[in-house]
Amino acid sequence: MQVTRVLISGAGIGGLAAATALARRGVQVDVVEQRPNSDVLGVGINQPANSLRALRALGVLDEVLATGFPFDRTSFYDWQGAPIVDCLSALGGDVPANTALSRRALHGILTAAAERAGTKITYGTTVEDLVDTDERLEVTFSDRRTESYDLVVGFEGLRSRLRRRLFGTGYDPVFTGYSVWRLTMPRPADVTHTMLFQGDGTKAGVIPLSADSMYLLHVTAEPGNPQIPENAKADLLVERLAGYGGLVGELRDTITPSDAVVYSPLSEVQLPAPWFKGRVIVLGDAAHACAPHLTQGAGMALEDAVVLAEELAVPDRDVDATLPAFMERRRERVGLVQDVSHQILVGEMAITAATLPHAVAHLREVLPEQMRQTETFLNQPF
Ligand SMILES: Cc1cc2nc3c(=O)[nH]c(=O)nc-3n(C[C@H](O)[C@H](O)[C@H](O)COP(=O)(O)OP(=O)(O)OC[C@H]3O[C@@H](n4cnc5c(N)ncnc54)[C@H](O)[C@@H]3O)c2cc1C
Repeated sequence: MQVTRVLISGAGIGGLAAATALARRGVQVDVVEQRPNSDVLGVGINQPANSLRALRALGVLDEVLATGFPFDRTSFYDWQGAPIVDCLSALGGDVPANTALSRRALHGILTAAAERAGTKITYGTTVEDLVDTDERLEVTFSDRRTESYDLVVGFEGLRSRLRRRLFGTGYDPVFTGYSVWRLTMPRPADVTHTMLFQGDGTKAGVIPLSADSMYLLHVTAEPGNPQIPENAKADLLVERLAGYGGLVGELRDTITPSDAVVYSPLSEVQLPAPWFKGRVIVLGDAAHACAPHLTQGAGMALEDAVVLAEELAVPDRDVDATLPAFMERRRERVGLVQDVSHQILVGEMAITAATLPHAVAHLREVLPEQMRQTETFLNQPF
């Protein structure tokens, strides 16, 4: 390996994956995480085939498949439950097209894998200072320890401090104007794959997570990015779902004020390539957070992690040549995911009551081919 000692800041999905990928190749990896412990908040997370292949490279595919719910299609409906079109996924082959599971379960699997590989994870700790001496990176932590590394990787999510340190505040996350409301609920027997329901400037959906559970999602315009009080979330979700009939209407009518609704404003990060300076690189959401409409954000972070480890294992090359090579492998895939996810978000949200009938006809005509093209591309090796 071109590196012997690496620091990863952030024990989220990408950071844990990178730690596992590097430590399995014999690198000494330290991870620091600002959260006080390994616990994460979350609902469900879908892992499309390319994510599953990255998870296979980390040695955890069987655990993920044993935990999650596999499915191979997405069905589209209008907000009264009338079918629009059913799209068989072009993803998969050697792995399922999709497998959704609880985010907490995915974190648990990745944390265990990183620890098994020999990674040291320190919670409640952040990078306070970092000096690049050309030879080494001298890092001072919030607990006043200092250590030196060959490479520092920031998988710090949307509000990455390392990104700010390297590139300034010009690439802070930009709120899209839209948010997602999510709630884990019991799974009705007919929810066996992603079902999406196009409304009047909103979209709802259901994704199965296990034999017993699924999650309901609702994407809405939230101008001004309001703070939503915890105890108002369930009532507000019910209010936002007024007008939905069919399955979504039935699910809405079972929501109670004490239900644990997770509200997530949707923000994007567009850090131009290259995502590194010297031997410090930011990856995952810190570099390229996108709308969740292709369920590819974690997939891109997982791919970043696996590709970085592969490129650092190339013999007879040093890190300074490897980081540009890494960028070459990542730029196009990540750019496509960001662009397509954004277009889906704004396209769906622009549909009004007046344009819905026309939109339904248009979706029926173009969606299968658009999905096929995007998924065929994402199903290629990364
Ligand atoms: C509503 C919604 C639904 C989504 N659904 C899906 C889906 O179905 N499938 C999918 O693939 N993706 C999905 N995503 C995207 C996915 O969650 C992210 O792309 C993914 O979590 C990115 O991984 P990451 O490691 O880059 O960042 P994160 O998972 O956010 O991890 C960042 C970690 O860094 C820590 N951290 C932050 N700052 C510091 C610091 N200064 N020092 C130390 N630690 C720090 C954080 O506490 C956190 O643990 C969704 C996103 C949203 C908002």
